[in-house]
Amino acid sequence: MLTTKTHDILIIGAGIFGITTALEMNRRGYQVAIFDPGPLPHPLAASTDISKMIRMEYGSDEAYTALAEQAHKGWLQWNEDLGDELFHDVGVAMLTRAPMAPGDFEYESYHLLLKRGHTPERISAQTISQRFPAWKPGAYVDGFFHAQGGYAESGRVVATLVRRAEAEGVTLYPEHKVETLLEEDHHVRGVRTSAGGIFHAEQVVVTSGAWTALLVPELAPVLKVTGHPIFHLKPADPALFTAPDFAVFAADSSRTGWYGFPLHPREQVIKIANHGVGQVLHPERDKRVVTERDVEKLRAFLAEALPELYDAPLVATRRCLYVDTPDGDFWIDHHPQRAGLTVATGDSGHGFKFAPVLGGLIADAIEGKPNPWLPRFRWRDFSAQHVQKEASRYQG
Ligand SMILES: Cc1cc2nc3c(=O)[nH]c(=O)nc-3n(C[C@H](O)[C@H](O)[C@H](O)COP(=O)(O)OP(=O)(O)OC[C@H]3O[C@@H](n4cnc5c(N)ncnc54)[C@H](O)[C@@H]3O)c2cc1C
Repeated sequence: MLTTKTHDILIIGAGIFGITTALEMNRRGYQVAIFDPGPLPHPLAASTDISKMIRMEYGSDEAYTALAEQAHKGWLQWNEDLGDELFHDVGVAMLTRAPMAPGDFEYESYHLLLKRGHTPERISAQTISQRFPAWKPGAYVDGFFHAQGGYAESGRVVATLVRRAEAEGVTLYPEHKVETLLEEDHHVRGVRTSAGGIFHAEQVVVTSGAWTALLVPELAPVLKVTGHPIFHLKPADPALFTAPDFAVFAADSSRTGWYGFPLHPREQVIKIANHGVGQVLHPERDKRVVTERDVEKLRAFLAEALPELYDAPLVATRRCLYVDTPDGDFWIDHHPQRAGLTVATGDSGHGFKFAPVLGGLIADAIEGKPNPWLPRFRWRDFSAQHVQKEASRYQG
């Protein structure tokens, strides 16, 4: 049995939600400890990957677009502060197979960007062929290219923030799985780890991603864990898929889910993934496999869109987990019945891009400080008929 330790804040889970919160709370003067069962970053964490899309495009949703604008500034600042180009501002191309029309994710995004003073460039089948020759001529006939946006090397971002957190005084507990929340009179006052360690604090913050409902079971009805396939392909002609000749893309994503990235500077692969319905999975019991059927769907997409990649070797696949809320909005709030407990999760497959502003958001929730975005992420009830509304996501 390990000795008892006390901190001001205990954070459970060192993915991007947890580590940004740890850094921010530490900078606000709290003694912070953070736990994670794995090495950091944890190989099974959603945040651990070679790249994540960083975009401002959210259809007509001005709140997310405004938050993404702030995050974009934060990414550029992090590249300076963290002394490494972890964010690649190579631009994003939103492509459509039919002319953009009112109500479409792409049309609404384009016009909202213009309204907010950005300069997205409208592209046609002809400009797509000229600027991005890897695309099958005529397969996509409309859309736009927005120079602000791109991708972040997510796993490296988490690793860098973990090092920065330790250097700034956050106590790290890697290889420590929190098993139980310790509670007296509806007040959470600490945690016990699977090794039997007891840790006390005024505030406990659950940022455990797909595992959250295992620690806070009353959230199981509103947090649905879904698995989504990722593919890494080795192109025969890397130059064709290198920025600026190939941008981060969403290919009619609200109607197909397909999106992807240019050649990765370190891994020398093309990552393609699908932002769709996904497969409901248990974070611990279920295997996370990419099936033959998933690969067939990928090849069918490549045949119609990126023929040069059609038979490129698949060098890696992965099924990664979203934490879906019924409305697709994050879940960041105090527990209404259990004092001392804050939950920050519900990423719904689109949280990483907000990393530079996440810590501040979650810290404001912990401290109960007013924040314009938090009402949207509050602890909330759902009617049975609620639908997902993250505009770029394919709803099946
Ligand atoms: C396939 C896929 C593609 C995505 N693409 C994008 C994208 O392009 N752009 C974008 O913005 N977002 C994207 N996302 C979403 C993004 O990855 C998530 O929003 C974000 O990574 C969630 O971070 P998190 O910290 O909540 O969870 P995680 O990164 O999963 O971290 C949770 C951590 O909690 C730890 N933990 C679990 N249980 C315990 C316990 N009992 N005790 C201690 N620690 C525990 C885990 O080990 C893990 O490290 C994607 C997600 C997936 C799955």
